[in-house]
Amino acid sequence: MAAHRLVEKGYRVAVMEMGRRWRPEDFPRTSWSIHRWFWRPKLGLRGFFDMRFFRHVTILHGCAVGGGSVTYASTLLAPPDKVWESGNWHGLADWKAEMPRHYATAVRMLGVTENKILGPADRLLKKTADIVGCGHTFYHTHVGIFEPEEGDPGSKTVPDPFFGGEGPPRTTCISCGGCMMGCRYGAKNTLDQNYLYLAEKRGARVFPETKVVNVKPLPASDDGSSGYEVQTVRSTAWIRRHPQRFTSRGVVFSASALGTMELLFQLKEKGSLPAISRQLGKHVRTNSESLIGARIPGSSDDLSQGIAIGSGFYLDEHTHIEAVRYPNGSDAMGLLTTFLTDRRPGRHRILLWLQNALGSFVRHPFHTLRLLRPWGWAREFVVLLCMQALDGQIQMRWQRPWFWPFRKFLVSRGQKIPTYIPKANEFARTFAQVAGGTAMSMLPEILFDVPGTAHCIGGCVIADSPIRGVVDYRHRVFGYKNMYICDGSVVSSNLGVNPSLTITALSERAMSFIPPAKESQWNDGAEVATSAHIAA
Ligand SMILES: Cc1cc2nc3c(=O)[nH]c(=O)nc-3n(C[C@H](O)[C@H](O)[C@H](O)COP(=O)(O)OP(=O)(O)OC[C@H]3O[C@@H](n4cnc5c(N)ncnc54)[C@H](O)[C@@H]3O)c2cc1C
Ligand code: SF4
Repeated sequence: MAAHRLVEKGYRVAVMEMGRRWRPEDFPRTSWSIHRWFWRPKLGLRGFFDMRFFRHVTILHGCAVGGGSVTYASTLLAPPDKVWESGNWHGLADWKAEMPRHYATAVRMLGVTENKILGPADRLLKKTADIVGCGHTFYHTHVGIFEPEEGDPGSKTVPDPFFGGEGPPRTTCISCGGCMMGCRYGAKNTLDQNYLYLAEKRGARVFPETKVVNVKPLPASDDGSSGYEVQTVRSTAWIRRHPQRFTSRGVVFSASALGTMELLFQLKEKGSLPAISRQLGKHVRTNSESLIGARIPGSSDDLSQGIAIGSGFYLDEHTHIEAVRYPNGSDAMGLLTTFLTDRRPGRHRILLWLQNALGSFVRHPFHTLRLLRPWGWAREFVVLLCMQALDGQIQMRWQRPWFWPFRKFLVSRGQKIPTYIPKANEFARTFAQVAGGTAMSMLPEILFDVPGTAHCIGGCVIADSPIRGVVDYRHRVFGYKNMYICDGSVVSSNLGVNPSLTITALSERAMSFIPPAKESQWNDGAEVATSAHIAA
C-alpha cells in the first residue's frame, strides 16, 4: 500500500519481499501440495502460508508478494468506533473524524463488496443462528472478491473493473471456497492485483524472495537523517544467499506484526537501530479465537461451495462466529480435527477426550472412522471460527529459549489465552444437530492448550512517546528520521474484527502526511505528544 502512495508522490521505491511472486495457475490445487502451500524454505517448502509456534499462541500468517492478502479469506470489516477510545493511540488524533475517509479509500482500493454468494454452510449457519435466537445478527461478510451477479456461475474475464482501466483484467469468482489456498481464478482482490500492481506500473521495483536482514543509518548521522543502508539475502537459497546492499533516504517497515517485531529486535540487538523503543514487543494482541466445527459424513451438499468466509453472526455482544471452508480436496486439515471436548484445559480435558474417542470407536467403529478420516473432509466439514473481542495481551521478547541456548528467538510471555469458549462449544453442538453431523474441534487446542490465530496485531504500537510505544500518531519510528511502520504491528487496541481493512486504512492515513518527493526536506521525525496535543 505504502509503495503505491509513495510512487504516486514521485518517490523512487523498492519493495523487498521474502516470499515468492505467484500467478493464479501456480497456486496448489489442494492442501496436500504441502510444498506449494507452506513457507519453510529451509525445508524445501516454498509456499505462501506459515505457522509460527509460541507458548501462548500459534500465529498463522502469509508470506508472498502481496503479503497476507494472498492467503487471507478477504473478509474486510471496519471495527466499531469504540476501538479509538482505548489503547495507547487514544487521544493522539481525532481518529473518529479522520478515519472514515481512509476506510473509504481502503474499501475502494481493495474492491470491498457485500458477499452475494451463500453456500450450504452459510445457510446452515443462518438456520442455527435462528434456532439459538441470534438470527437477527446474521450478516453476509464484506469481502475483497470480484463477484459475479447473483445467479451467474462466474469465471468471466473482463478488462479491469476497479481502476478505470489502469488495473489488470479480472475474472469473476466461481465459489470454489479456495480463497485461503490462493485464488487460482484471479477473482480475489489480492494486493498484487491492486496496490502493488499500480505501484509497479508507475515504477516501483519489487524484489521477490529477498529477505531484509539489516537496516542501519548511513555513517554520516546516527538518526538516519542522511539515509539508510538496507542489506538483504535471498530467502529461498541455502548456500549462495546473494547478499545485496541498497541505500535509501527513508524506510517503511511493512513486514507484519510478527515480521517487523522480529526484524526490529534483531536490529536493536546487533546495534544497527539501538534507539528503537524498549516498548518493542509489548501490547501484542490476538482476538481470542477458537476453531470448532461439525462434520457431516455423506452430506448431500458440498459444504466446500461458497467463498472461504461467506457469513457470520453474533452469539452475544463479544462473541462472533463465522462459517469457514476449504475447497473440495483440500483435506489435509482433516488430520487435525477430532471430537469436540468440553472442560477447562489440562490433564482432565485430555482424559475426557481420550474417553470420548475410545467410547466412540467401540460403539460405532465405522462411523468414527468416517468422522476422523481426512478424505472428503473439506466437502463434509464446516469450520466455525469463533472470535471473542475481549482484550487479551501478550508480550514478545527476544530471548534464548531454555531448550536452544545458542541464539535468540521471539518468545511469548503473559497470561494464557483461553482455548475453551463454552458458549461456542454449545453452539457447535446445536449446529451439528441441525446439520445431522457431529461437533468437532482442533486436536492441538485439546492436547497443548495453545490457541491459533490469523490475527496477530501490535508489538510496535502507536503511542504518545517512546515510553509507551514504538511509533507516533503518524507511524514515524521514535528515535529515527524518515522511518515508518505501516503494518499490523502499530494497531494499539483490540479490533474485535478481522484486521486487514484497518491496517490498510491506517497506512493510507500515515502516507497521506508524506509530502510530494519534490517538497521533501528529509527530516521527518516522530513527535513526542504534549498534553496540549493530546487534549486537543
Ligand atoms: C489463513 C489466513 C486467513 C486470514 N483471513 C483474513 C481475513 O479474512 N480478513 C482479514 O482482515 N485478515 C485475515 N487474515 C490476516 C491478514 O492476512 C493479516 O492481518 C494481514 O495480512 C496483515 O497485514 P500486514 O500488512 O501487517 O502484513 P502482511 O500482509 O503479513 O505482509 C507482511 C509481508 O512481509 C514479508 N516479510 C516479513 N519479514 C520480512 C523480511 N525480513 N524481509 C522481507 N520481507 C519480509 C512477509 O513475507 C509478508 O509477505 C488471515 C490470515 C491468514 C493466515
Ligand atoms: S471462492 Fe474460489 S474463485 Fe472465488 S475468490 Fe475464493 S478462491 Fe477465488
